[in-house]
Amino acid sequence: MPANKKLLMLPGDGIGPEVMDEVKRIIGWMDKRRHVSFDVADDLVGGCAYDKHGTSLTDNTLEKAMGVDAVLFGAVGGPKWDKAERQHRPEAGLLKLRKEMDLFANLRPATVFPALADASSLKKELVSGLDMLIVRELTGGVYFGQPRGIETLKDGSKRAVDTQVYTSGEIDRVCRAALEFARKRQKRVTSVEKANVMETGVLWREVATAVGKDFPDVQLSHMYADNCAMQLVRNPKQFDVIVTDNLFGDVLSDCAAMLTGSLGMLPSASLGAPDASDRRRALYEPVHGTAPDIAGQKLANPLAMVLSFAMCLRYSFDMADDADLVETAVRNVLDAGFRTADIMQPGKKKVSTVEMGKAVTAELDRLSA
Ligand code: NAD
Repeated sequence: MPANKKLLMLPGDGIGPEVMDEVKRIIGWMDKRRHVSFDVADDLVGGCAYDKHGTSLTDNTLEKAMGVDAVLFGAVGGPKWDKAERQHRPEAGLLKLRKEMDLFANLRPATVFPALADASSLKKELVSGLDMLIVRELTGGVYFGQPRGIETLKDGSKRAVDTQVYTSGEIDRVCRAALEFARKRQKRVTSVEKANVMETGVLWREVATAVGKDFPDVQLSHMYADNCAMQLVRNPKQFDVIVTDNLFGDVLSDCAAMLTGSLGMLPSASLGAPDASDRRRALYEPVHGTAPDIAGQKLANPLAMVLSFAMCLRYSFDMADDADLVETAVRNVLDAGFRTADIMQPGKKKVSTVEMGKAVTAELDRLSA
C-alpha cells in the first residue's frame, strides 16, 4: 500500500525515545493489520540535537517539520543542558517549532478512564467518564504582548509590565477551530474570558459570539475564567469543549489535567490554520516532560504518547475509527489491570514501558480479530 501520510518523529530526550518506541510499535501494527502505511522520518530535537549540532533545532529539522502532515514530539530537556545558552536550550527548539509552524490552537483533552477514576483528586463519581477538551490559544496574549519588562523607578523601587493583547483575527481563528472540533464531539462550546474586568475579554466575547453564528448546530455559552476554575472542580462533566486565551488556558488545562490523575496519561495537540486543501500543520506531544528521574529504567508510562498518536489519527488524518480503536485498546488494557509504576494500584499488574506497549498492540489484535 502506498504511504502518503507523512510523519516526522522527534523523540527528544529522557523518556521521549522510550515512549516514542511504543508508538512505532502501533504504527508497525497498523501497517501489518490495517494496511495503513505511514511515511515516517526520525530526527533529533532538544538536548540530543544540541550535543550533536550545537543547537536544539537545526534548520534542516525545521524544514522537515514544515513539509510533513504531522510531527510527533516526545519531550526535551534535562539537567545536563540546564546551563546551555538560552537560545540553544532544549525548550527553545520546541518553542521555535511552535512559532514557525504557527501552531495557535493547543488541544488538551481531559479524559478519565474508568479504571483510573480513583487516582483523581476529586470524588470518583464527579470524574468517572469525564471527557472534555480544552482549546487554548497558544501564540498570543500576555505571554507575547508588548511592552513588557521590569524597570527601576527613581525611588529605587521596581515596576513590572506584561501586556495582554489580542486581535479579532487571533480570537476568530481559535474560536472557529474549537467550534469545528465540537462538531465531532457533543457540540457544546464554553468560551472563557473575563469580559467583566478586561478589554481583551470584551473583544473575546464579541468575536466568539459572532463566530458562533456560523455554527448554528453547536451550542455556544460564555463563562468568566474564575467561575470556570470553580466549575472544573465542582462539576467538570458539564463541559464538552472549553476555548480560552493563552494565560487562562495554561492554568485551566493544568487544573483539568489533575482531575485525570497522572501526567503519564495526558496527550496534547497543537494545530495551525487549515490551508487550501484543509490541511493543518500539527504537532502532537504528551503533556509530560523528559522525567530524568526514571529515564532509561523502562518505567515510563507510554500511554500519553500513544494517546497523542490517536489524536494525530483523528485530527491530521481524519481516521476517527482508528483513533477510537487505539483509545479503546488503552481503556481495555487499563480495565484488564495493566499498570506502569506511576499509575500502580494495589492488586494490579505492574508492567514496564515495553510491556504496556505490547499489551496495547495485543488488545488491538483482539479488538480487530
Ligand atoms: P516531568 O513531566 O518530566 O516529570 C514530573 C514527574 O512526573 C516526575 O516524577 C516523572 O518521573 C513523572 N512522569 C512524567 N512523565 C511520566 C511518564 N510518562 N511515566 C511515568 N512518570 C512520569 O517534569 P519535570 O520533572 O518538571 O521536568 C523534567 C524535564 O523535562 C525538565 O528538563 C523540563 O524542562 C522538561 N520538560 C519538557 C517538556 C516538553 O518537552 N514539552 C514539558 C515539561 C517538562
